[in-house]
Amino acid sequence: MKYRSTRGQSSGLSFEEAVLAGLAPDGGLYIPQDALPRFALRDILSWHGKQYHEIAYQLVRPFVGPEEISDADLLALLKRSFASFTHDDVTPVVVLPKDSEDGAQDPFYVLELFHGPTFAFKDVALQVLGNLFEFFLTRKNDQEASKANGTTNGAANGHAQHAEHTITVLGATSGDTGGAAIYGLRGKKYVKVFILHPKGRISDVQEAQMTTVADSNVFNIAVEGVFDDCQDVVKMCFSDPAFRDKHKLGAINSINWARILAQTSYYFASFFLVLRQANVDVKALLDSSKSDEEILAALPKIVYSVPTGNFGDILAGYYAVRMGLPCVSKLLIATNENDILHRFMETGTYAKRMKEAGVAEPARATLSPAMDILVSSNFERLLWYLERGDSVSGEEPAKDDSLASKASAAVQSHMKSLNTTGGFSVSPDVLERCKATFASKCVDNAETSDAIKRYHTRTKGAYILDPHTAVGVVAAERYPVESGTKVVVLSTAHPAKFPEAVLEAVGSGVKYEDFAPKEMVEFLSMPRKCVTAWTEGGDKMVAEKRVREIIEDEANGVDVFGKEYGKPTKN
Ligand SMILES: *Cc1c(COP(=O)(O)O)cnc(C)c1O
Repeated sequence: MKYRSTRGQSSGLSFEEAVLAGLAPDGGLYIPQDALPRFALRDILSWHGKQYHEIAYQLVRPFVGPEEISDADLLALLKRSFASFTHDDVTPVVVLPKDSEDGAQDPFYVLELFHGPTFAFKDVALQVLGNLFEFFLTRKNDQEASKANGTTNGAANGHAQHAEHTITVLGATSGDTGGAAIYGLRGKKYVKVFILHPKGRISDVQEAQMTTVADSNVFNIAVEGVFDDCQDVVKMCFSDPAFRDKHKLGAINSINWARILAQTSYYFASFFLVLRQANVDVKALLDSSKSDEEILAALPKIVYSVPTGNFGDILAGYYAVRMGLPCVSKLLIATNENDILHRFMETGTYAKRMKEAGVAEPARATLSPAMDILVSSNFERLLWYLERGDSVSGEEPAKDDSLASKASAAVQSHMKSLNTTGGFSVSPDVLERCKATFASKCVDNAETSDAIKRYHTRTKGAYILDPHTAVGVVAAERYPVESGTKVVVLSTAHPAKFPEAVLEAVGSGVKYEDFAPKEMVEFLSMPRKCVTAWTEGGDKMVAEKRVREIIEDEANGVDVFGKEYGKPTKN
């Protein structure tokens, strides 16, 4: 499988190249260049009973050349990645009674994606990505070492005369997602990770989770300033080619292809878990002489409701459907008040809200902060398929490079318009194609909070939704389905990650310790490791200087945790 950019200027990359690059040089996102694999119904059903990592292996294998990662290595890598999840099903499905008057409705199925090391769904992808980085860098270094050994005629020390292949991951977090990155990369060979957060502006739980990681390749930097400053500092570092190349800066943001690919696994795994809950005898179906149509008629329809920010989670569902995942009748985009996707579905126009010409409104701060985005980066990938004219039935169009070029040209023009005017519109047929697979709902703060409370009451205190999952639940409640259709709500975080919103919703009588996993409580009292970049009252240029100094110092062997970077601002 080769990879190409959505914007058409970059193609022919291997999986490894696409994964290590992240974003394409033309600003586009990498997507498969060859036809997507499509599994036959009976093949998929035959995965029934397989372990999670074995299902993931089936899905990932066609996307990675066997010369890049062998069968045995790939299986081992995926097994290791999901071994850090604490639940036997990795991503279990639990039944949540639907809040109905008569109690006769089908329940919701909550797909809990938060049993990884940081209790958030991003662990699924980042555990895999961290292992991929380590695998590829180790292989590169081993290859160079053996080359060097060969040319030096087996010189006694055998040390390679080349600079080591390494990567320095640099990222910014408002608190929600930095932890998953750190846990994905901690202890990985040839990888260092620097995560910037705004000093004193993330919750104590979030700070504790990130800064109690003791591995020597993990560097938390608290920047005196706000989240946007952190993000700008990261951008400034990346836009300096000399600095970027010297430290081999890398990013692991949600546009990385490997993350989307890894996330297809829970759509397939949950399909089997839902069939188990619905008492469908898959083995009997397989043993029968039924045709595909007859088998499908015996299976329930499924709607997936997905709390959506950058569109990575739900895009994995789209790929899953394209790869043959049966029974999916709709993918429901659940947004909070940052609803650019919902407005697109309603109107065919994808546009930021503008304060005035040329100035976009900032993202709104909601109860589900991991979805507080202005634009959804991964939407560009879906747009490419829609513009190419791919049909919803999931059949790949005949190989036609002119269609691919046309799609890239359309995406390029849309993205340009998004940058210059703040938005773009698609043609009615493109919107129709989108609506064949997707629907959308926008959920506000009051509804989110209310849902947390209602389900807490309804389950007599047994189940607490996190605010992101609550957005998915409310969207699902408002989306009408035929009787018998199973509705799966993707749960993207453990409620203990967002204690303020949860405690506010469920009211007095519930304490944090009542629902927080013991690890999360323990984090709070563990020693923290973090270096502060003081900025003389929040000066961004000073912040950049300090962060570079920290990265430089560390590369030169300085213990950055034992040094001062600026002085606390006196006021
Ligand atoms: C990142 C995140 C989301 C949104 O996922 P996308 O892939 O960006 O759509 C939802 N909930 C939580 C808790 C997250 O961390």
